[in-house]
Amino acid sequence: WSYLGCRSGIKRKSESCTKNNTRAKIKKEVRLVMDINKLKILFTEEQIQNRIKELADEMNNFYGNDEVYAICVLKGAVMFAVDLVKHLNMPLKMEFITLSSYNGGTSTSGKVNAVDISLPDLNGKNVLIIEDIVDTGLTAKFLLDFLNCNFHTKSTKFCSLLDKKITRTADVDADYYGFEVDDKFLIGYGLDYDGYYRNLRYIGYVDKDDL
Ligand code: 5GP
Repeated sequence: WSYLGCRSGIKRKSESCTKNNTRAKIKKEVRLVMDINKLKILFTEEQIQNRIKELADEMNNFYGNDEVYAICVLKGAVMFAVDLVKHLNMPLKMEFITLSSYNGGTSTSGKVNAVDISLPDLNGKNVLIIEDIVDTGLTAKFLLDFLNCNFHTKSTKFCSLLDKKITRTADVDADYYGFEVDDKFLIGYGLDYDGYYRNLRYIGYVDKDDL
């Protein structure tokens, strides 16, 4: 709101509006900073990176020198996908799609929202879907059904860094997963809480009472 051409009246209104917005923002940030102090570490950066290398070794063995289309499911899988593909040796193309099912809360809405699912022609290609976490499995099922309906791929594999097998309702399994986890709300390394904390290098959880 440093709009130079605005009249003083409008400017005053804008300034007070800015103050209110800033106050609300600070209040929100204080609440979130307090929450992060209660974060309990589940997987350290080292554990995550070591497991990613193991997964990449398995994939390098499976695909050999065959071309792969790696599909990163935004936003949660961004960190994992970027780190994983650095260890993959075959010719590889990266694609990005955006799905959502949490709507900013800490439990799934039960509906998968395909925000952006534009993909190239994947007929005859090896497709590797890269996800952050499989929870109910609805997102994975939606994506696998979508690919099946639209393409005859050479192969379709689903890879998730985390697998909450205990909360699964859809009949899907990841072909590759990093760690099996309990029914906790996890944060960090791509996983968010209300949009925050994706940038953490480790994965932690907050007890439900502390959220
Ligand atoms: P599903 O469709 O399998 O129930 O949920 C998949 C999506 O829900 C994930 O891609 C992720 O975005 C979100 N999700 C599931 N569990 C968690 C969690 O513990 N923490 C966070 N931040 N997101 C989660």
